[in-house]
Amino acid sequence: MKSPIARWVRFPLFVLCLLALSGGGAVAADSRSVLVLYSNGRLVPGNVSVEAGLRSTIESSAGRPVVVFTEFLDNPEFTGDGYERTMTTYLRDKYVGHPPSVIVAVARESLDFVLRHRDELFPGVPVVHAAVFNSFPKPVGPLPADVVGVPVGYEIAGTIDQALRWHPKTDRMVFVTGSTPRDLEWERLFRSTATALPPQVKVEFLAGLPIDALSQRLAELDARTLVFTAGFYQSGDALRFTPRDAAALVAQKSAVPVYGTFSSFLGTGVVGGVVPRFEAMGRQAGDIVNALLDGTVPSSLELPERTRNTLSVDQRQTRRWGIADRDIPADAYVEFRQPTFWEVYRTAALIGGGVILLQSALIAALMLEHRRRLKAEGTLVQRGSELAHASRLAIAGELTASIAHEINQPLAAILANTEAAELMMKSGMQKPEVIGNILADIRRDDLRASDVIARLRSLLARHAVARQPIELNEAIAQGCALLDAEARRRAIELAVRPGPSPLPIVGDQIQIQQVLINLVLNAMDAVGELPESRRTIVVSTDRHPDHVTLSVSDRGHGIAPEHLPRLFDSFFSTKSRGMGLGLSISRSIVEAHAGRLRVESTPGKGTVFHVDLPSLRPDGTAPKEYRWT
Ligand code: ADP
Repeated sequence: MKSPIARWVRFPLFVLCLLALSGGGAVAADSRSVLVLYSNGRLVPGNVSVEAGLRSTIESSAGRPVVVFTEFLDNPEFTGDGYERTMTTYLRDKYVGHPPSVIVAVARESLDFVLRHRDELFPGVPVVHAAVFNSFPKPVGPLPADVVGVPVGYEIAGTIDQALRWHPKTDRMVFVTGSTPRDLEWERLFRSTATALPPQVKVEFLAGLPIDALSQRLAELDARTLVFTAGFYQSGDALRFTPRDAAALVAQKSAVPVYGTFSSFLGTGVVGGVVPRFEAMGRQAGDIVNALLDGTVPSSLELPERTRNTLSVDQRQTRRWGIADRDIPADAYVEFRQPTFWEVYRTAALIGGGVILLQSALIAALMLEHRRRLKAEGTLVQRGSELAHASRLAIAGELTASIAHEINQPLAAILANTEAAELMMKSGMQKPEVIGNILADIRRDDLRASDVIARLRSLLARHAVARQPIELNEAIAQGCALLDAEARRRAIELAVRPGPSPLPIVGDQIQIQQVLINLVLNAMDAVGELPESRRTIVVSTDRHPDHVTLSVSDRGHGIAPEHLPRLFDSFFSTKSRGMGLGLSISRSIVEAHAGRLRVESTPGKGTVFHVDLPSLRPDGTAPKEYRWT
């Protein structure tokens, strides 16, 4: 026994089904339908393209539901009266509930079929034909007024002309056809076209050959040959093909470029041809269908005589056979477009180019900066050496009194000796050995004076900074010789305590002496106020594993701790007539020798300045930089 609940559920379901059915019926009644009848199979590439063009055009008519049905006659596999009867019955019975408003017949066999059977199938329904070739296999006869369409014309000659332009050395044209009646039609068409070829081009037909023989012949074709094919349905050894598959096989086996008759051949290895484009045919038929659905009378349609054929190429093939992109007319269809290097790598190239540009700019800027630095460094060295020179002149000024004294002494001695000699001459005293002694004294004093002048001249000479091996103790001894007179003048004891010799360093002897003189003159100033007994300055040198030290110590007033940080600053001076350049120049000189200048001072007790300089290495070199710890 059924439950009442089950009955309640079943009733609304029944109502829903009724609604759905009535809804479906309403769509069918309000919409118009188009029946597209193809002469061959569903997946034939040409059909797929026609279908795409047709549907995109019909469906693009907005606001008006149009249902598109498709049927396939499956030619050439299925033909004959019996088959046609079956198809007619099938179509009539199938579409009795959905009579089409327009029929589209795609390709010649389909048009012929519709013309033969439309009265019993769909009487009075207008027919639009598409992809029907106007002269092939036979001219399209006069059609009834309500059968309209734009026929397609082949341009075999156009394709061959274009191919010969691209391959001007061609001396042989090979046509490939098959063995079905349809294939034989193509062969006939090719033969009539071939008669118009230029005389130097020989013609060869590979018609209805078994696949092996065909493949072999195609493979051995020489470079001046071109192949032309419409594909074929059947080979000489009874193998079945679609034209496109046959074209693909021909292109694959051929050693030379292959041109063809259909746009659907593009992508199989065929270069291309001046071909009708199936999608365009579909769109054109779609436009006519739309006009008819809109109520236009078929006979009033103004249609072109035939569809426009377009040069269509596969760019992979044009490039493979050396056809330059610029030789392809601008209005050609170029399929399988190969992106240029720029298109593929644009982003990478832009980034790379940017990086390179940036890098170049950076390198240029760095080089400029480097040059500027070198120039600035050069100027700095120049200024430094000028400053050092000026400071030496200042030192000479400070030493004037003592130097004058030092020169005066031998000059006075020379004068005294000369006078003594004169007196001896006047008195008639003839003592050659005494005269000899006097002359020897004069010579010695003269040498002493000129020695002082020579030392002074070498200190004051303007010279380029030298970098040569020098012995520190020797340089110090010479420097102190210049200071001895000054020390004596100031009643200061200048004690030189050289460390173990040799103390080889690399540098400029004059500049090292300049540092010594600066430090000693400062020390002299510092001890100036002390009682004579404590006016001692000690100049010493010492050797360490890889450097040497020159120290100048005094027991003077020392340096106030607050002055220490500014001690080496230019123009820092605590003296009333001080310039404040001595220590700053000395430090520059020492650092230019990769050395360092240190100070230890105790106010009231004294000061020691240490000059550390890297030693000359055993291999004869000296460091340009030294890491002092
Ligand atoms: P200047 O001698 O013209 O003053 P420097 O640069 O040679 O210039 O010296 C700077 C200052 O350092 C001096 O004014 C002085 O105050 C201080 N100084 C340098 N050497 C000594 C020293 N041995 N003892 C005490 N003070 C010193």
